[in-house]
Amino acid sequence: MNPYWSPLVHRLSPYVPGEQPKLPGLVKLNTNENPYPPSARVIAAMREELGSDGANLRLYPDPNADRFKDAVVTHFAEYALAPNQVFVGNGSDEVLAHAFMALLKHDAPILLPDISYSFYPVYCGLYGVEHIAIPLNADFEIGIDDYRPGNGGIVIANPNAPTGHLLPLTDIERLAAANLQSVVIIDEAYIDFSAPAIPTAIALVNRYPNLLVIRTLSKSHSLAGLRVGYAVGDASLIEALERVKNSFNSYPLDRLAIVGASAAMEDKDHHEKTRQAVMHSRALLTAALVSLGFEVLPSAANFIFARHPQHDAARLAAELRQRQVIVRHFKLPRIDQHLRISIGTAAQCQALVDALRQILG
Ligand SMILES: *Cc1c(COP(=O)(O)O)cnc(C)c1O
Repeated sequence: MNPYWSPLVHRLSPYVPGEQPKLPGLVKLNTNENPYPPSARVIAAMREELGSDGANLRLYPDPNADRFKDAVVTHFAEYALAPNQVFVGNGSDEVLAHAFMALLKHDAPILLPDISYSFYPVYCGLYGVEHIAIPLNADFEIGIDDYRPGNGGIVIANPNAPTGHLLPLTDIERLAAANLQSVVIIDEAYIDFSAPAIPTAIALVNRYPNLLVIRTLSKSHSLAGLRVGYAVGDASLIEALERVKNSFNSYPLDRLAIVGASAAMEDKDHHEKTRQAVMHSRALLTAALVSLGFEVLPSAANFIFARHPQHDAARLAAELRQRQVIVRHFKLPRIDQHLRISIGTAAQCQALVDALRQILG
């Protein structure tokens, strides 16, 4: 026991992010980044903010990131949001963290899928939130009726990670309606890759005061390195998040992030093009892996979750790594024979398929 550490620190089991290799030239399909660059308007906006001498950097950023909130409201104009229905954070991980503290810390345990984003139980540990793991069914799907009222809140990723499974909006609505006494959080990190018409639960927030939708610019806007996430919900949920945020860090987004993220939300053409390209590559990669004997779960995300009935997943991941291709393997119950493979460029997907063909012989 380290006497300087708080007791809580001894009990934490922190999240372990996927590797960010220092070696150049690896085919990096392990952390679901977008293989395409962000909008050119992002770079232009950040250059302009920086100016020739960086004088703007002397000044603190807008603590409320109003420019970005306005860009979110405009991006989702069809859903008639107000700026006070948008909360902004340093990546959606920070938004999630504040949501656990602000909205999920009650006496009753929260409900989480047994297989989902592994950061959720980490936040439970950090904030002392009890949780119950609700098993996915045998096809790795969430069954909405397994989430019974009387909980302290519900957190679901839709599409789910790492399975890629998408719940229809009708299920999300049923879940929100059946749990009006608690907050239902839908983490839509991957929803932009789900369909030609994006079935976002943002469409429901004006009808369900208990529904909070969390989004990130890391995946479909190609901005994992900028660290911008946001939440959309009823103004009273957002106020709770603002109270926690303003008790923690007034300036979660820096000046470059505010202008860059706003420009990304404004460039709908670029967003549309890259998400279509990823969905197209996903179909091709799925077919290629199936022809190599893999079982591939249907995915609505920018990754696929696959297993090979004759080959151990950990061994495949290690052999891919020797061939400069990195994918994600989780040493966890139920999924330790699966690989999660991010959708790369056409060339990266080809490199993966070529390496697998060699390994499988
Ligand atoms: C990537 C991811 C996040 C985190 O996104 P950041 O905005 O980069 O922090 C949140 N939830 C899920 C399910 C993710 O896969």
